Amino acid sequence: MTSLDTIISLAKRRGFIFPGSDIYGGLAGTWDYGPLGVLLKENIKREWWRAARQLPEGKTFSLDSSIISSAKVWQSSGHTDHFTDPLVECKKCKRRFRADHIESDKCQECGGELTAPRSFNMMFKTSVGAVEDESSTAYLRPETAQGIFINFKNIIDAFHPKLAFGIAQIGKAFRNEITPRNFVFRSREFEQMELEYFCDPKDADKYFSDMRDARMQWFLDLGIKKENLRFHDYAPDELAHYSKATTDIEYRFGLSKDGFSELEGVANRTDFDLKNHFVGYRWVGDDFIRSEDGFIPNVIEPSVGVDRALLAFLIDAYDEDELAGDKRAVLRLHPKLAPIKVAVFPLVSNKENVVAKAREVFDMLNSDRSSLITAWWDDIGNIGKRYRRQDEIGTPWCVTVDYQTLEDGTVTVRDRDTAKQERVAISEIAGRFIEKLS
Ligand SMILES: [Zn+2]
Repeated sequence: MTSLDTIISLAKRRGFIFPGSDIYGGLAGTWDYGPLGVLLKENIKREWWRAARQLPEGKTFSLDSSIISSAKVWQSSGHTDHFTDPLVECKKCKRRFRADHIESDKCQECGGELTAPRSFNMMFKTSVGAVEDESSTAYLRPETAQGIFINFKNIIDAFHPKLAFGIAQIGKAFRNEITPRNFVFRSREFEQMELEYFCDPKDADKYFSDMRDARMQWFLDLGIKKENLRFHDYAPDELAHYSKATTDIEYRFGLSKDGFSELEGVANRTDFDLKNHFVGYRWVGDDFIRSEDGFIPNVIEPSVGVDRALLAFLIDAYDEDELAGDKRAVLRLHPKLAPIKVAVFPLVSNKENVVAKAREVFDMLNSDRSSLITAWWDDIGNIGKRYRRQDEIGTPWCVTVDYQTLEDGTVTVRDRDTAKQERVAISEIAGRFIEKLS
């Protein structure tokens, strides 16, 4: 089992993820994504959008709602009153702890006396405009879902979709976690991928079950090992008050007793959210109007954090093996997710004609019109070291330009997983990579 420390160290050393505000001593629960982290995130999000827009029935509409949102949104959604953690405070050092995480009635830092538990809201509060008073209070959204619900009628009025249909959104969300921990598994600023699928209540069970399976398949298709994933179906007494059924897709992050923790949640949220925001509205015919008749659509919600998914993909892909007696670390990422698809090396960096030819090959791959290929140039150190560097960041293919290239127009293509090399004509390499990536 890959330890989290191994991944944190690799992520920093190789430019995936850095601690937030690092040079000023850090800010707990925040992370900065470096060049490779940005590419990996982009690839995960692209695959998620693809899946969200290819739902078997009905349309999926995309949305990008505002991060700063009216206090009224969170009043109606229940977050102002219920999105809280029970906290105790040390009377001596003023530190705060989660009431359900403490082991005695004394402060674990200084031994001081603790207060009785009080509820602490996890939303980040801010104020909008020049005057700071009650009326200017706004919140950074703690989830992207409510942005979808409050735009439900706007989508209906603009597109007149029939049930069932989805509204999907990827965006940042913020939670003032008391104890952010485990790297990007639980941070204060994170990115969510949420789909709300609206349907007739009589079809909700079927869509819930389909969605649950489809989301599991998404992770499997992108290379996560089957034995590291499982469903956790909630028992009736575990369900949130608004949910009729919830299943977590759990991944073996290695952070809990049995190793498994939540990766994604799939929930039947019933009509709870629409009922809260659109009091008195019903679905009648093909419209959502003020009415006594009709019904309120139910909603099936698969919700997953980009950061948490990225962590699962990194942990799952990490491997150590031996090549010709040498130990190597390799990220066996699915080629679709790999930040860099192909690295191009001149065999030697002091022979002008070899370097020029390699530049030509690099430029050709880098300007690939399918936009599927992300190419990387490396001419530092010997070839063996360059291979190791690419293995460690998950690059599926390395192309080396050597003396033979100048004679017959072929290069060596080396495969990350098998470390096998073969000679391929320059004219054929782009097509070969594109085929494997599409
Ligand atoms: Zn204390």
